[in-house]
Amino acid sequence: MARDLHKRVRGRTVVDVSVGKPDVLRGATPRKLKRVLVGRRIERVWRRAKLAVIDFDSGARVAVQPRFTGSFVVERSGRGADQYCTLHLTLDDGRRLHYRDVRRLGTFQLFTPKEFEAYVSKLGPEPLEPDFTGDWLHELLQNSVRPVKPLIMDQHRLAGVGNIYASEALWRSRVDPSRSAKRVTAKEAQLLRDSIVSVLTEAIKMRGTTIRDYAEGEFAKKLDAYGRAGEPCRRCGAKIALTHAIDGRASYFCPKCQR
Ligand SMILES: [Zn+2]
Repeated sequence: MARDLHKRVRGRTVVDVSVGKPDVLRGATPRKLKRVLVGRRIERVWRRAKLAVIDFDSGARVAVQPRFTGSFVVERSGRGADQYCTLHLTLDDGRRLHYRDVRRLGTFQLFTPKEFEAYVSKLGPEPLEPDFTGDWLHELLQNSVRPVKPLIMDQHRLAGVGNIYASEALWRSRVDPSRSAKRVTAKEAQLLRDSIVSVLTEAIKMRGTTIRDYAEGEFAKKLDAYGRAGEPCRRCGAKIALTHAIDGRASYFCPKCQR
């Protein structure tokens, strides 16, 4: 999402801001957002944890947390916007960049550089950076009696692993999502680390082609566990199970080959 947007809007200057549904805003009123962003050039769009971050030449930053249905739509020749586009930035080339969110659970947050640093300093390491190793993950797991799934999804411990990717990585590494983190061996921790990295890398690659409906990106077709309750496990043939008992979220797993 961030990569797509970077290619489309880098170097463009914001000439107008309009907010249709202010409930997605954090850290600013519609008026303040307009005052801070109009006349500013977009320098970079990048990802940190589950945020798409837009850097402006003034140092101001917008962090968008899309959650379930948030996405960006870059309007071409007046088409592409609909009633779910809740916030609009008009660019100096005449195109409009919309933040679109059907369920409006996502957020569009304005930061100063200092506020942004304070915010991200509370996030754990990035799984796609070199310091995320099997040993590091094993150490983290050893020090907790929580179930392994909510632990790897804890943004203060490890950034950017959401519910779908946690389920997929645990399936790939044959670890039951409800298992006590302490009981994950060093070998399994290495396998789990590799699975998290491969799942995220594949998902990023497959989503790079579409700008709308990120939750339904190409990677959805490749899921082995998530959303497949009652369907046969692609590894052993047992029926994939669904539970909400681990962390209140939907957890999909194979009761036979995940231990
Ligand atoms: Zn299985």
